[in-house]
Amino acid sequence: MRCPFCQHTESRVLESRSAEAGQSVRRRRECIHCKRRFTTYERIEFVPVAVIKRDGRRESFDRSKLLRGIVRACEKTGIEAAQLESLVDEIEAYLQQQVIREVTSNEIGELVLSHLQELSEVAYIRFASVYRKFRGIRDFVETLNHLERQAAQTRESEATRAGDSREVEHRSLEAEDRGASLRPSPESISLMSQT
Ligand SMILES: [Zn+2]
Repeated sequence: MRCPFCQHTESRVLESRSAEAGQSVRRRRECIHCKRRFTTYERIEFVPVAVIKRDGRRESFDRSKLLRGIVRACEKTGIEAAQLESLVDEIEAYLQQQVIREVTSNEIGELVLSHLQELSEVAYIRFASVYRKFRGIRDFVETLNHLERQAAQTRESEATRAGDSREVEHRSLEAEDRGASLRPSPESISLMSQT
């Protein structure tokens, strides 16, 4: 970056801060040669990403369209709008980092699912049902089983990482407790018989 006064190429950064709502970084610099000060702005360069749809047509990646689809899947799941916004931010940032400026709609769908899995199982199933075009109950059951297996794997690997085999035992006991709580308790049975 050349000094606008003396054209010297080296400068010292005095201050950096985010500008334009996080879209750029403003830097206050001092020329090493003439000591005069100037400001530079560093911006992220957005390159359009092409989405290849199932029928082979292409369209440019539309952030708001993706967000709308996710918002619909997440209705009444208690996930905050800000969380969904940042989910879309992450996907967009990921796409921007790729060398290839093309992505299939399937890849985007899988990216969304991998994020939703951490946020809400209900949202995951709903989004999967739309985007994977579920045809019947079998598709739902398969997806649920897949979620169950992954959750179990995560629990196991977490326990292994903790280096404590008792942890696994403890967690499976917890799972049994949860199963037990689904059965009516003696109190609720007596309540039911009163009505
Ligand atoms: Zn200078």
